[in-house]
Amino acid sequence: MASLSGKTGLIVGVANKRSIAWAIAKAASDAGAKLAVTYQGERLGENVRELAEGLPDPLLLPLDVTDDAQLAAVFEAIDQKFGGLDFVVHGAAYAPPHELSSPFVQTTRAGFSTALDISAYSLIALARGALPLMEKRGGGSIVTLTYLGSERVFTNYNVMGVAKAALESSVRYLAADLGPKNIRVNAISAGPITTLAAKGIAGFNSILQVYRDRAPLRRTVETSEVAGAALFLLSDAGRAVTAEVLMVDGGYHATGM
Ligand code: NAD
Repeated sequence: MASLSGKTGLIVGVANKRSIAWAIAKAASDAGAKLAVTYQGERLGENVRELAEGLPDPLLLPLDVTDDAQLAAVFEAIDQKFGGLDFVVHGAAYAPPHELSSPFVQTTRAGFSTALDISAYSLIALARGALPLMEKRGGGSIVTLTYLGSERVFTNYNVMGVAKAALESSVRYLAADLGPKNIRVNAISAGPITTLAAKGIAGFNSILQVYRDRAPLRRTVETSEVAGAALFLLSDAGRAVTAEVLMVDGGYHATGM
């Protein structure tokens, strides 16, 4: 298991115990990292506070990624408590429900804007906020979460697929920008997992079944398996890997028929 001993990380995107970001938080903490964990609004704050009782001395902060003042406050609080930052996990994504159940051609301007802002632009905003804190540490690692719907059509994934394409492109541009500062930026493209966000996609269960039937491993993946890949990218084990989209999907992406 890769070590994150002596490292400090920011985890964005924990809603509940099923969240992929929570599995990564637990794995990172077990690997020795000190963590700041954010929550979107007070309702989810209760969940996150309860979950975080199992972490040693975490910094818990509210963050709506569309709110620049909250973004600034998060990095200020991290700087005060930890004096720098080694890694960021970005697991925030959202599209209004009707965009994930209507024909794609009906995508609204407002829905497009919201999905792209929360699910893609937020990575750029987080990277910019993290930059001075990572410079203090001589580098860092940023990992986001994406899905194959960025490249292939999955029924009802719709504007979220467009947002994930923008997110993956942002990974490459950020990696090019920040690489000279020894900051790496990567994405993990996870296979489908039943989480709060996934439940918002109409017909999600049929996507799960297709993976069970056709993925080379003939199964879906678990959040702990995504967390294992994240540890590799966050730790020094992945120190030469950047601008990458790492597929953690039981091999489904390689299948034709
Ligand atoms: P989740 O619902 O547990 O996590 C989504 C998170 O996004 C929540 O914590 C939510 O609070 C946060 N979020 C939404 N809007 C926000 C905002 N304005 N400000 C701050 N946070 C906001 O679901 P998840 O499946 O763990 O999703 C995590 C990431 O993994 C997402 O990017 C998702 O697209 C991606 N992903 C999920 C799957 C899957 O099948 N579950 C597959 C591939 C990729």
